[in-house]
Amino acid sequence: MSFKIPYGRQHITEDDVQAVVAALKSDFLTQGPRILAFEQAFAQYVGAKYAVAVANGTAALHLCALAVGVEAGSKVITTPITFSASANCVGYCGGEVVFADVDPKTALLDIEKVKVLLEKSPKGTYQGIIPVDFAGYPINLEKFRQLADEYELWIIEDACHAPGGYFVDSKEQQQYCGNGLYADLAIFSFHPVKHIACGEGGMITTNDKVLYDQLVQLRSHGITKSPGLLRENHGGWYYEMHNLGYNYRLTDLQAALGVSQLQRADERIARRREIAEKYDKAFANTSVGVMPMPAQQGVHAYHLYVIQVNDRKGLYDDLRQHQIFAQVHYIPVHLQPYYTQFGWKAGDFPQAEQYYSRCLSLPMFPTLSNEEQDFVIEKVLKFCQ
Ligand SMILES: *Cc1c(COP(=O)(O)O)cnc(C)c1O
Repeated sequence: MSFKIPYGRQHITEDDVQAVVAALKSDFLTQGPRILAFEQAFAQYVGAKYAVAVANGTAALHLCALAVGVEAGSKVITTPITFSASANCVGYCGGEVVFADVDPKTALLDIEKVKVLLEKSPKGTYQGIIPVDFAGYPINLEKFRQLADEYELWIIEDACHAPGGYFVDSKEQQQYCGNGLYADLAIFSFHPVKHIACGEGGMITTNDKVLYDQLVQLRSHGITKSPGLLRENHGGWYYEMHNLGYNYRLTDLQAALGVSQLQRADERIARRREIAEKYDKAFANTSVGVMPMPAQQGVHAYHLYVIQVNDRKGLYDDLRQHQIFAQVHYIPVHLQPYYTQFGWKAGDFPQAEQYYSRCLSLPMFPTLSNEEQDFVIEKVLKFCQ
C-alpha cells in the first residue's frame, strides 16, 4: 500500500473554500464582521457567554495570563503533559510556572498532586491553575473550581484539544469544555491539526464581562474607542490606549474559515469518536495500552488517540517505514532545557515521565479512511505481538 498517513490533518470542504473567497471579495480583510460572527458562533458552540478571537492559541494564553494579572512573583500551577505554550504564557508575564504530576489513568493534571502543592505552602503562594483537557479528555473542572475557591485561585482552562467535549458534573449536567462555568477563562487553537482549522487562530471564552472587556482591549494594543471608557474625547478620530496591549487580532479571512469549519464540527467529532471506538476494540486484550474515557463521565473530543506501548521508539520507527507518521504528545514540559534551567529535572514527576516513555499518538482525524485505519491497526498489532 502507498498511503502516507499523518497523525492529524485538517478537513477543508468546498464550502470552506467559498467562505474564504467571499471574505476576500468583501470590504474587510481584517477587523470586519466575520470576527464577531465567528466569536458569537463559537461562544454558542461551547456554551459560553463571551468569546474573543485572537491570532493563535498561544496569544490566547498570553492575553488570559495578562487579564488575570500574572506578573513577576506570581506562581501558577500546570501540567507537564501539554504543549509548552500552556506553561510559557506564565513566563511571558514574568511569573513562575510550578508543575504538578499527572494522573496515570488519564495523563491529565492530577488534582490530588495539586492539593499537596497547595497544602504545603501558605495561602496566597499560588495565584492560579492552568488545567489542560489533554488529548480531548475533558478535565473535571467542578472539582478544580472547589479547590481553586478554597485557595482563591483563578483557572485558565487550556481547551485546545477539546472543543465539543464535555464532562458530567455532580448535578448530572453536561459541562462543555470552555463553557466558562467553572473556569474563569478558556482558550482554543485553530491550528490545522486541531478540530477547527483557520491556518492559525485562537479563541478565548469566558462568562465574565470584566475579563471580556479587558481581553478585547489587550488584543488590539490596549486601545479603546468605547465612549463609556474614554477619559476625554477630542472628536471622531479619538481613541485612548489604557494598557500595554498587543496586535493579536485574527483576520476576517481566518474568521470566515472558522465560521464555515464550525458548521461541521459536530460531524467531525462524531467521526473522531467512531475512529477511537474502532481502535479501542482492536487493541482490547492486547499488549497495546489504551486510555478510553468512561462513557458516563462525559464525551471525549479525541484530538489525539494515544496508545501506550513498551517499545515506543521501535513502534514509531516501524510505523514510519510504512508511511504512518505517528507522533509523541508530549515530551514533559519540565524536561525541556528552557525549564530545566529553573531546577526542574528528571524524576520530579514520575507519572508524567513514565507516561512519556510509552506514549504514541496514532493517526486520528475525521478524513482517515476505514482502509487507512485498518492498515494502521494491522501494523501496530503486528509490531506489538
Ligand atoms: C496547540 C496548542 C496550543 C497553542 O496553540 P497555537 O494556536 O499553536 O498557538 C496551546 N496548548 C495546547 C494544549 C495546544 O495543543
